[in-house]
Amino acid sequence: MVRSVKSKMSFELLGLAPALVRAVEEQGYTQPTPVQQEAIPLGLQGRDLVGSAQTGTGKTAAFLLPILQRLEAGRRGRLRALVLVPTRELAEQVLERARAYGRHLQLESVAVYGGVGMEPQTRALKRGADIVIATPGRLLDHMRRGHVDSSHLEVLVLDEADRMLDMGFAPDVRRILDSLPAERQTMLFSATISGDVDRLARRALNEHAAVEIGRRAEAADGVEHVLVAVDKAEKRHVLATMLQELPKGRTLVFTRTKFGADKLARHLRREGNDVAAIHGGKTQSARNQVLDRFRQGTTRILVATDVAARGIDVDDVVMVVNYDVPQDPEIYVHRVGRTARAGAQGVALTLMSPDEWLMMRDVEKLMGRTFPREVMPGFEPAVPPGQPSPRNSVPRPQGRSVMARRGRARRR
Ligand code: AMP
Repeated sequence: MVRSVKSKMSFELLGLAPALVRAVEEQGYTQPTPVQQEAIPLGLQGRDLVGSAQTGTGKTAAFLLPILQRLEAGRRGRLRALVLVPTRELAEQVLERARAYGRHLQLESVAVYGGVGMEPQTRALKRGADIVIATPGRLLDHMRRGHVDSSHLEVLVLDEADRMLDMGFAPDVRRILDSLPAERQTMLFSATISGDVDRLARRALNEHAAVEIGRRAEAADGVEHVLVAVDKAEKRHVLATMLQELPKGRTLVFTRTKFGADKLARHLRREGNDVAAIHGGKTQSARNQVLDRFRQGTTRILVATDVAARGIDVDDVVMVVNYDVPQDPEIYVHRVGRTARAGAQGVALTLMSPDEWLMMRDVEKLMGRTFPREVMPGFEPAVPPGQPSPRNSVPRPQGRSVMARRGRARRR
């Protein structure tokens, strides 16, 4: 219900001024993306927010449109909005977007980044830009030379915060934060919300005003998350064995590559399973056929890549298997969101080889909890020297685990 109302959402209904609505229409956008639907009204209210959104979700417009609307109303010709980005390429992209969305407004935007001469940037800053889009190191350089007056700053955006931290910009960002007016609106966007990003958000955003978008939303309550520690070479045997004994309903298995999807599907078929693979290497009509059979229940197990799985909207998936731990924790949340829909119960089973333990920690950090780790008898992984045992790396949960139930099933 909420979804269908949202899908009819227009840019006007989000509260954007006609000049901005016209500009986005000229870009060919017919309706706001989900992150825009969530973030634009909050941005227009002047709220601080944390958006967990990757590139490609429309996050740039989600922060630029509210900024442009706010700046249109006040005095021009001095720095009022600052967007910090990790790379020169992103700075150029955001600048290009700011000019496109602001084409019917009289606002100046400028990008400053390293690797090119200071002089043209200095001149542009001194002419009085309303919006500055900057990489942290070069901005600090300009600040130290007195080229930037940030005393009238109203809005700060930290874009791709995780990448900024990964690239070692934390000290620069902290210095910049210390020099900005404390009373301001701050929006932070990040593909992943790690502990470091969280700390940055707590430092940069006003307490109590932070709003998270998208994060955790799709991890349904009815999901039992199970991690099985296993050597990479044993994964397919472990999965084939577990599929015999775990819930018998529709099962969606995720692999990282198309090749991996085909290979696994072949193996599981040889082991006597009803299984098909779906990925971008197949024609649309072949994919539709596979999906129809999965939907009807003729095929019980579908092995999919993340890209191919985007269009899969099937209810009653009782188990999602992460055959590979996804490199991006957000992907885990998306995958697992396919099970336990509408209050149902589901299992999210992850086969985790020793080289994937750290990635799994990132997933757990994102979800704010740890999951029980299991070891399948006869398939204990070789633990690399210096690594904790997978079993002892987290406290054992209370209650019976999937593996314990599995053991009972076997004895029956
Ligand atoms: P971003 O995630 O901000 O990098 O945006 C990804 C791409 O989506 C860019 O090429 C934008 O021009 C485009 N885009 C942003 N918002 C919309 C929208 N509402 N409808 C269609 N395309 C959009």
